[in-house]
Amino acid sequence: MMRTEQARPIRLEDYRPPDWRVETVELDVSLHPTATKVRATLKMSPNGETVPAPIVLEGDGLTLTSLKLDGSELHPDAYVATPDSLTIAQPPAGTCYLQIDTLLDPSANTQLMGLYRSSGTYCTQCEAEGFRRITYFPDRPDVMAVYTTRIEAEKSEAPILLANGNPVRAGDIPGTTRHFAEWHDPFPKPSYLFALVGGNLACVEDNFVTMSGRDIVLRIYVEPGKEDRCAWAMDSLKRCMRWDEEAFGREYDLDIFMIVAVNDFNMGAMENKGLNIFNDKYVLASPETATDTDFASIEAIIAHEYFHNWTGDRITCRDWFQLCLKEGLTVFRDQEFTSDQRSRPVKRISDVRLLRAHQFVEDAGPLAHPVRPREYREINNFYTATVYEKGAEVVRMLKTLLGPSGFRKGMDLYFERHDGEAATVDQFIQCFADASGIDLTQFMLWYSQAGTPEVVVTGSYDPAAQTYRLDVAQAVPPTPGQPVKEAMVIPLAVGLIGPDGRDMSLAFNDGRPVVRGVLTLNQPAQSFTFVGVPHRPVLSLNRGFSAPIKVTANLSADDLKFIAAHDSDPFNRWQAVQSLANTLLTDNVAAIRGGGTPHDDEELIAALAALLNDPALEPAFVALMLTMPSEADIARDIGRDVDPDAILAARTRLRTTIGARLGPALRETYRRLQEDGPYSPDAASAGRRALKNACLDLLAAAGVSAIALAARQYHQATNMTDRIAALTTLSHYGVPERQAAIDDFYRRYAADPLIIDKWLSLQAAIPEPATLERVRALTAHPAFSLANPNRVRALIGAFAQSNQTQFNRADGAGYAFLAETVLALDPKNPQVASRLSTAFRSWRALEPVRRAQAETALRHIAAEPKLSRDVNDIVSRSLDGG
Ligand SMILES: [Zn+2]
Repeated sequence: MMRTEQARPIRLEDYRPPDWRVETVELDVSLHPTATKVRATLKMSPNGETVPAPIVLEGDGLTLTSLKLDGSELHPDAYVATPDSLTIAQPPAGTCYLQIDTLLDPSANTQLMGLYRSSGTYCTQCEAEGFRRITYFPDRPDVMAVYTTRIEAEKSEAPILLANGNPVRAGDIPGTTRHFAEWHDPFPKPSYLFALVGGNLACVEDNFVTMSGRDIVLRIYVEPGKEDRCAWAMDSLKRCMRWDEEAFGREYDLDIFMIVAVNDFNMGAMENKGLNIFNDKYVLASPETATDTDFASIEAIIAHEYFHNWTGDRITCRDWFQLCLKEGLTVFRDQEFTSDQRSRPVKRISDVRLLRAHQFVEDAGPLAHPVRPREYREINNFYTATVYEKGAEVVRMLKTLLGPSGFRKGMDLYFERHDGEAATVDQFIQCFADASGIDLTQFMLWYSQAGTPEVVVTGSYDPAAQTYRLDVAQAVPPTPGQPVKEAMVIPLAVGLIGPDGRDMSLAFNDGRPVVRGVLTLNQPAQSFTFVGVPHRPVLSLNRGFSAPIKVTANLSADDLKFIAAHDSDPFNRWQAVQSLANTLLTDNVAAIRGGGTPHDDEELIAALAALLNDPALEPAFVALMLTMPSEADIARDIGRDVDPDAILAARTRLRTTIGARLGPALRETYRRLQEDGPYSPDAASAGRRALKNACLDLLAAAGVSAIALAARQYHQATNMTDRIAALTTLSHYGVPERQAAIDDFYRRYAADPLIIDKWLSLQAAIPEPATLERVRALTAHPAFSLANPNRVRALIGAFAQSNQTQFNRADGAGYAFLAETVLALDPKNPQVASRLSTAFRSWRALEPVRRAQAETALRHIAAEPKLSRDVNDIVSRSLDGG
């Protein structure tokens, strides 16, 4: 078995253009649950050589049934076919037609890569290397071809037949109970963007008129009976299509755009040309079934996949090392869309929280890698926070450095220059250099150096000279394979806040203007002096989180409180509160571990009280302010010798203090934000609910009277947001109301797997010793299935990722349970197993007892002789690196 071997690493520096191009692909797919026949006819041409190279096509577990070259059956001596490759050593000198027949068993495909069945619906997932599980092909993104797809199936089993592109013809097959449909996609695309769907699906249809007046049919396909849960997804689609025209000048190109929701899906969604396939979690929503967070995720993911039509499909990646070219850029685009649709500061704070929770942690551990990796053993393991979220931050920094109009010129040039091509990160950045005249050579280090840059800033005021001087030093810590780093280009947005709370004007002492308030760092140490500063200012650093860095500065608790109250930059107001809380929590964790007494921080309480009582602030923003750093945030801040029990104790103590000290204001806010009108998923309404539920949660931390409040909200809720928020709050306390509500929730929603996922997750996240047994018991519950990735993520993923104390139990039972699950899942679905195993990524930062337990569990997984390449790669890097 090829896939169980420790594969040779693939290296960026070894890239060579393909020997053969594929001009057209004609696919004829005859669907059958266990014996699907695929005929692929490839028009191939040698890529420039006079003596043609051998044709070498990739496969993965394929069964070849026939092979023809230019219409004639090939003699068995003329080729070598294995399940994993097809080689023709002496192909003809010019263009040729290769006709390949393969036989597939979609029902046996538990990996959910290639062609598989999800609740009876045939669907495909080809990124990154799934097309080779359908037919032999040069399965690499720089081979772009025009596809025509004919699908046939039993009419009763699959009345709907879909593929990429525009519909050509469809009809019955005379004398049989079967029918067919043919689709043609005129835009050349790589094989990873191929898709087909066959099944009994219901359809919701709408239309969209593009900026040039073309009428586009929009269709969302779902399980019959779920049509009434598609309205939000359709509305989001139309809004993002308009936004891409306005913000980037990009118009849709085919006559039809389709989204299909399926139950069993390894990822969130997939941007196949004209036929996006979605995890149903990111399509289906109604007030009774989905939370505000679900509505926001659906809007963002619908937009993300749609935006790929230009950044990913029309311009794709030359090779998988360039994955960030489509993902980082498209995440940036969906973040901007959400910022324009909702609240920009709230979106920025939420994104930075996620970046720190996932990407900063990855960057600080054994799995750290550059935004553009230099080598990989299994590409599926590089769909990471670094490639996606840090990749988006790099694009955002480009915009900060160049300004909005310079950025737009670079984007326009990129679309103009590379449309229809498979491009590289270097070509992308070159467009911005050419459009702006700015040298971006040093900026490219963001793509090649892993690790989060650490910036230390010292500000000093000279009252006599009325100058303010900043001394700035930067360093990037060592990461696996990269012991020494060079200085990065860091756009640092700064402000000097005067005693009146207003921004002072910034002027350098050499007369240069400070463009858009951004300092450009590009050396290990630099100084900047501002003139005409009449009073000692308070320094506001890395405004809007202008760079994905860790900043340390000589700011006092008074300075932070002042920033929290006055900064014109909302991000830094939030950051100041977080910094105050971080300092307190870190001190108290040390005190708890050392047997000392934890203390309170009056500055922090006062800052929160002021924010809670400021009617000018948007509720969603105040809700974020009231959310204290998570246990994982605190662990990341402490960095080494981490004791999750002490962290939970310190955090619980702080929340109890806030709940008690701000009790009346929290109660009043909770009361004021009660709503009795109909539910609306808009950002302002969602923000009010977020603040209301944050108040409830803090009140519950402070005492039992809020438990009754939570129980009442649970039973009286008219929407899922309020119901699940109340249940989550209740779940943290061992009160009789808890189990009653948990049981009631199951009774209400047992028929709806997506809602039961929330029920699984919240039980897995309860921070108490009985949770592991609860989770074990739930793995045997009829609602759970190891075969469905959503169920696995909801129960096991939530336990390992969001239950710091119980996953990291000192006795190692949490780790042993995860190892056991990874080993059970790996033979069926290596991608999801591999993703679960990344929960060990911070094991070296733990205190010695837990560190030893985690290492034992990792070594137990590593000892399995038939481990998949996916899991083997993650586990061996986790044990080696760092
Ligand atoms: Zn994407």
